[in-house]
Amino acid sequence: MEKDYYSVLGIERSATADEIKKAYRKIAMQYHPDKNPGNKVAEEKFKAATEAYDVLSNAEKKYQYDQFGTNGFQGGGRSYGDEFFEGDLNDLFQDSPFSSFFGGGKRTRRASNYGEDLRIRIKLNLKEIALGTEKKVKVKRHTSCETCGGNGAENGLAIEKCGACKGHGVVRKTTQTMLGNMLTESVCNSCGGAGSRVKTPCSDCRGEGRKFIEDLITFQVPKGVRKNMELTLRGKGNVPLRGGMPGSLIVQIEEEEDDLLKREGNNICYTLHVSFIDATLGCEMEVPTIYGKVRLKIPPGTTCGEVLKLKGKGVPDVNSYSKKGDQLVFVQIWTPQELTKEEKDILLSLRDSPNFIPKPNKKEESFFERIKSFFQG
Ligand SMILES: [Zn+2]
Ligand SMILES: [Zn+2]
Repeated sequence: MEKDYYSVLGIERSATADEIKKAYRKIAMQYHPDKNPGNKVAEEKFKAATEAYDVLSNAEKKYQYDQFGTNGFQGGGRSYGDEFFEGDLNDLFQDSPFSSFFGGGKRTRRASNYGEDLRIRIKLNLKEIALGTEKKVKVKRHTSCETCGGNGAENGLAIEKCGACKGHGVVRKTTQTMLGNMLTESVCNSCGGAGSRVKTPCSDCRGEGRKFIEDLITFQVPKGVRKNMELTLRGKGNVPLRGGMPGSLIVQIEEEEDDLLKREGNNICYTLHVSFIDATLGCEMEVPTIYGKVRLKIPPGTTCGEVLKLKGKGVPDVNSYSKKGDQLVFVQIWTPQELTKEEKDILLSLRDSPNFIPKPNKKEESFFERIKSFFQG
């Protein structure tokens, strides 16, 4: 059905942003459910105005609506609920009787129904980081009591309406001031705003609606995570007292140092020791990578400090698995520390051989420049 958001708010199609806001504020204050508990008509009016304001206060949505109406409108108004307009309402209801409901204080209903977040750290080795892994952790946390379903009442049933506020969660008080009678509203002290009270507490959780247990939590760690990154497991934090939304379990990543493979961004650095004979003649050597051992060709005439690349043997990018780092193999020429008489004689016989006298190529990049260019490329 086609809706006319402008007439819902009682404004002209030419209304300015400020006029739209004012019109909504007026309706919202009049029909707000907190002011009209149980009044279905008021609730409908509030919802309709909220939907209209959601569209008309957003330049992009308003443009679409003006062009195509609600029929052609994709992804219409946001639903009216606890999470609605977290930021905007503060501003909208400032200096109004409702400011207390949306203010940053403890009285915000939404906040009081959320349990605390919990934090843990896990250590991952390079292989787990590169391949992604499933982890199981034991966390001591408050979970919902199964006996009462979390409301803290015996069998989940023995709940009664709070007498102090008649189930509204708020109490109104008339105070006399110099300017006449003032009506003020505040959250009910007897029930903390819940509007209900536990008649007979659940014997299993002694009325708390939750239990402190050691919970085994299983979760997936995506590929490519880094040190200090945080994974948020929604709903795995503490359950609040007597029901509500559980907080999150925040998992902070730590990296286990590997003896051979060093992570540098998404690249892996490895130092390979090669005898000067193998470096001179060329050979094939086995090199460890995160993905297992691979054979690497050392070309004849490889110099000390040369960097050989094993493409795609690095860590996948956490944002795009198709992008993967490389393994950089830094060649170190091994100089023998001890020699037998025989070995020494052979080397001595080669000492003055022309090919063994260093003739560095000036055009060749220096060792340090080459390393630098690898990390920049
Ligand atoms: Zn219980
Ligand atoms: Zn109450």
